[in-house]
Amino acid sequence: MAHADLSPRMKRNLDQLFADHGYSDYRWIDPKQIIVAQWVRMKCIYGCGEFGRSACCPPNNPSVAECERFFQEYAHAVVFRFEKTVDKPEDRHAWTRKVNTGLWKLEREVFLAGNERAFLLYMDSCCLCKDCAGDRTSCQHPRMARPSPESMAVDVYSTVRRFGFSVEVRTDYDQAMSRFAFLLIV
Ligand code: SF4
Repeated sequence: MAHADLSPRMKRNLDQLFADHGYSDYRWIDPKQIIVAQWVRMKCIYGCGEFGRSACCPPNNPSVAECERFFQEYAHAVVFRFEKTVDKPEDRHAWTRKVNTGLWKLEREVFLAGNERAFLLYMDSCCLCKDCAGDRTSCQHPRMARPSPESMAVDVYSTVRRFGFSVEVRTDYDQAMSRFAFLLIV
């Protein structure tokens, strides 16, 4: 499959753009190395309270096979890491909303810089609204809504370790969370 290329100049410009937006904890990756797994989708279906309740989560998302194919269409992407400790679980929504809104603005600028394929996977569920509409046609911000990596069947733990990030299962809220967003570029 033919890929659009990313010139060294464009890459430098994007690094500058990321810096201008305050992002420093990220790595360039080959999206073909993103690990897509059926077990991730099983965890969505059985065990996640957002299944069927979020417009950007299964069963509203592409199949695992389609997700796998999607990542194969790209040659350059970036993984961003975000770390945070929250006092209580309810605080997580506001943090996610803020981070995802900033990432959406970044995706738009990457697109406007001439990368028509730019597509973001938020660091967690969309969370732009307090209560998600639950299906794509009722989504309150359809232009901004994006899926999370997990909802696209990405094995985030194995994938980010492959690119040199360390990440462990957290067992309590007083431990810092590590969340990862993926920006597919070309
Ligand atoms: S924008 Fe709002 S309604 Fe749409 S997916 Fe995100 S949280 Fe749900």
